[in-house]
Amino acid sequence: MILEKPILNYQYISRISPSNFTALKGCHYKFILNKAIGGKPVLPVSIHSYKGTFVHRILEHISLGKIRSEEELSNYINNELKIINEQILNDGNSIYIPLHSKLKNFGLLKIKLKRFLIEKLKSKNPVTGIQFSSEKWYETNDKLVGGKIDLVCEYSNRIEIIDFKTGAITDELLDDEGEKFKEVKIDYQAQLKLYAALFHEQTGKKVDRLFLVDLQKNKYEISFSFDECNQLIREAKKILMRINEEIATRIFLANPTIENCKFCLNRPVCSYYKKSLSNGLKTSDIIGRIIKSQKFLNGNVSLFLQTQIGNVTIKNFEISFFESFNKAIGKEIIIYNVQADKMENSFLANQLTRIYES
Ligand code: SF4
Repeated sequence: MILEKPILNYQYISRISPSNFTALKGCHYKFILNKAIGGKPVLPVSIHSYKGTFVHRILEHISLGKIRSEEELSNYINNELKIINEQILNDGNSIYIPLHSKLKNFGLLKIKLKRFLIEKLKSKNPVTGIQFSSEKWYETNDKLVGGKIDLVCEYSNRIEIIDFKTGAITDELLDDEGEKFKEVKIDYQAQLKLYAALFHEQTGKKVDRLFLVDLQKNKYEISFSFDECNQLIREAKKILMRINEEIATRIFLANPTIENCKFCLNRPVCSYYKKSLSNGLKTSDIIGRIIKSQKFLNGNVSLFLQTQIGNVTIKNFEISFFESFNKAIGKEIIIYNVQADKMENSFLANQLTRIYES
């Protein structure tokens, strides 16, 4: 099916959140587009984003001391799966339901959660006597920067902020001598520092330590100073002001690079991305004119496109696509999320593939 693009309705942005601060710096337009289409992404979200939400919730329950045995863990897992499956259904992504059987290695994920719990139970720190707040909203007094903090632990002698991550927390980099070293991702560092500043502004209390924790219970501490945290808040507000100026003037600061665009789910409505794709930006999307389509005995349909790199074939479409492809012969389209096939200029459609008129 060739889909129609949603209409853009540009709207002013009232707030910036720490979790998207770095992405925003990379491309202002990403944020503007998200608001202009009402927050529902144009391309389907990956199953890993649901996995992340699910794991995140379980880690929080464990850290808050709500789960104290393997039996309780099992109950929480079943309950959270129910909640996330409902959310998936509401989002219109029924291909991911039921999540536990659609995710690869769900059994392994459960083992990791169990290990996380066991480590937590072994921890010498008693859960009592600490004031926890989880998933609580913190914002600046003018409400221009705000976000939910995973976990704030207030001990008698210190305050810690903890943020859970389900993917890799560090990037592997090279130093001046060409030696590899690992560093906590810059966007995560900025996110935590912004949280520290938000917490301080809202409560008047100073945070002592910032941590990122992964599923293996690796704990990464972020060093910070309050000056740099406050500087980041000022920077976030400046970006927000700039973005709203761009919306007013309709002169947008878009930055279509592979790095910025590869995970942007609003690529189909971004004219800057389309231009870059036409100019040869290499991604998992293909722009071209439909030459023909072909139906095979096994029920699969292939599409033939004339593109910049020559004629290409995209295989594996369902039979229901055949008629709409035939009607669109000669039209320029963009096919999003295809995989390279073994043969040159041949690609495979999958369940995340979507087609829009260019
Ligand atoms: S597709 Fe790329 S350039 Fe367009 S909004 Fe997304 S990140 Fe920015």
